[in-house]
Amino acid sequence: AGSLRRHKELIRDIDILVSAEQATKIMDTFTTLPQVAKVNAKGNTKSAITLKNGINADLRVIKNKEFPYGLQHFSGSKEHNVALRSRAKKMGLKMNEYGLFKGKKLIVCKNEAELYQKLKLDYIPPELRENTGEIEAAEKHQLPKLIEQKDIQGVFHVHSNYSDGANSIEEMARQCMKMGFKYMVLADHSQSAFYANGLKPARLKKQHKEIDQLNKKLKGFKILKGIECDILPNGQLDYPDEILKTFDYVFGAIHTKFKMPEKEMTERIIKAMQNKYFSILTHPTGRLLLSREPYPVNLEKVIKAAAKYGKAIEINCNPQRFDLDWRWCKVAKENGVKIVLSPDSHRIDTISDIYYGVGIARRGWLEKKDVLNTGPG
Ligand SMILES: [Zn+2]
Ligand SMILES: [Zn+2]
Repeated sequence: AGSLRRHKELIRDIDILVSAEQATKIMDTFTTLPQVAKVNAKGNTKSAITLKNGINADLRVIKNKEFPYGLQHFSGSKEHNVALRSRAKKMGLKMNEYGLFKGKKLIVCKNEAELYQKLKLDYIPPELRENTGEIEAAEKHQLPKLIEQKDIQGVFHVHSNYSDGANSIEEMARQCMKMGFKYMVLADHSQSAFYANGLKPARLKKQHKEIDQLNKKLKGFKILKGIECDILPNGQLDYPDEILKTFDYVFGAIHTKFKMPEKEMTERIIKAMQNKYFSILTHPTGRLLLSREPYPVNLEKVIKAAAKYGKAIEINCNPQRFDLDWRWCKVAKENGVKIVLSPDSHRIDTISDIYYGVGIARRGWLEKKDVLNTGPG
């Protein structure tokens, strides 16, 4: 339940909800799991622990018949639930974690979907429950059909040991294949990114040759040629056009001069987008959650420019980034700007970060058609 179920970018704790008629055994198991560092409370309806990684987790046990109402209640958000309860009140009903009532009589619901149905609403997926228009949309049957994990065909923006990645191109590709993807867009660092062993033209040539060979060898899978290309302070890209044109995808990236004033930073990015070989703006604000503020940039102008020049914007799915922020995804969508989900993995075991990105995209109301990873690459 809780913010974890809603795929929020930051969560404070983990809320688990279980329905059972007998709680004792469940509580015993929960409080003696090998991951437990400390038991903060142990009771018949609720126990609380601190995990070895420092995160708190709560477990609640409720009665089977209370489960749909409890799950809805404890999933939040608070804002969504306040709006829902006031809707119920207007319909002459009362709603809390134990049930939906008409007077004293329980209105029986088998699951959450039925609960929403009784409130004359389409089912609202947890990621949308923020009271930002989802209740109105559910009433008018206008909720988006959100993107799902199974819609993802390919992975954009992974690194190899040509720049600062830990694995070879082949290892990254084979991991993607193992995970069921059909293609991978390699995007190592460009030449100015010396700190990340960025690629000079000669090594690029070598890389492209290796990709061509691998594509002959790997059956039913394709490696596309991309680059994470620095956007220089003057808005130019880090290679001349005759090199840029050899890529399938050029990811434009700000890695330097974060302290530029907003107006200049915005112009810098928009100028880069005007290059015809520019394809995708990667980590659009440079933020690192809980540790680095975004650089000053006017995202509205950047999104409008992306629409004008036909460029895509990335949701960087690295859990430290989740950049583009989900709050801006709706704006991108309204402007017809396509989104790309990128794990930005530097090793095989973080390619799966792309699935966190699906949650963020869902929070941003995105559908299959809004996301380039659902296409053939
Ligand atoms: Zn980067
Ligand atoms: Zn990267």
